[in-house]
Amino acid sequence: MSQIENMSVIPESEVPVQKKSLHVPQLSEITDVLQSGLPSYFSEVQVRTVDCPDLTQEPFTLACEGLGGNARLLDVGGPPYLLPLVQRQKLYDMSYFGSLSEMPGRSFIIGAGAGPWPYYNTNCEMIANLLVESKVPTVNQTWTARVSTVDGSCIAAQVPANESRNALLGNFYCSEGLPGQVIEIECKNRIGVDDFIASIRNVLKNKYGNLPVGMGGVFVMKAGMARQHVMPDFSTVPLETDDELNNWLRFYEMSAPLVALGTLISTDPNMDLRVQHFHSFSNHGEAGHYHNDTQPENAHYLAYLGVADYIYRLDRPLVTHQVGRD
Ligand code: ZN
Repeated sequence: MSQIENMSVIPESEVPVQKKSLHVPQLSEITDVLQSGLPSYFSEVQVRTVDCPDLTQEPFTLACEGLGGNARLLDVGGPPYLLPLVQRQKLYDMSYFGSLSEMPGRSFIIGAGAGPWPYYNTNCEMIANLLVESKVPTVNQTWTARVSTVDGSCIAAQVPANESRNALLGNFYCSEGLPGQVIEIECKNRIGVDDFIASIRNVLKNKYGNLPVGMGGVFVMKAGMARQHVMPDFSTVPLETDDELNNWLRFYEMSAPLVALGTLISTDPNMDLRVQHFHSFSNHGEAGHYHNDTQPENAHYLAYLGVADYIYRLDRPLVTHQVGRD
């Protein structure tokens, strides 16, 4: 193994942690709020409180069955570690995220972040889908997406079972992965301008105002196409503006079905959070950072989301900026 592949992570004891409680309404209340609010964004909406289906099954193929048990959101690092120039030493191990966020037992970590660039020797997107028990990854279904240097196409790949590093930034839903009740959201035919997740956030924000409601889990985009980006290798010239960032990112139109994992929070309780972040993967070679569907009349989403009790902010950047948050 080369020196780069072996590059060490920041030790658990050196990762600063901030914690806040979130507002946790009853699932039945959130269900009603979304059922009445989402029709402003989609012409067909059905929201229910249900027993979580077995998410290890197709199309979801998650590492655990459910989203239950001590659910929390993790917001790790941030765009200031990527921009204007990368800080390569910002490398974490998801195996200690459960310990840092006071999980009493096992931790099932799903969501969107930057992937283990030392393994691929290039920057990449990550779709975390990982069960950790006693700080050891025991089920690892994590996907990555990177840009081919040959033809600029997207390369989607699963990481090796023991590769649990997360670089730079990430937004994760962490639970014990247990069965239990979740919120099921099915929406078709987008009539609003916002993407699926922003639509949910808007409805929650209208209802709960400055009380932060945090959710995370999975959605499948069942039909149509989505605009997604994949980060190429780190820029050698500083990226200072949104325009420079967007010229550096590679954008693609990717096909359904896409399975997306990530988090959302209705409002930021002054923790410098990324308020929504979902990455998707597929079995047809496409994966990346979800922006929105591109055929609104064909849009068809099915989501299973859990509600988090806490937000943990790991290694919050000292200096913040708004570039790179979309
Ligand atoms: Zn992303």
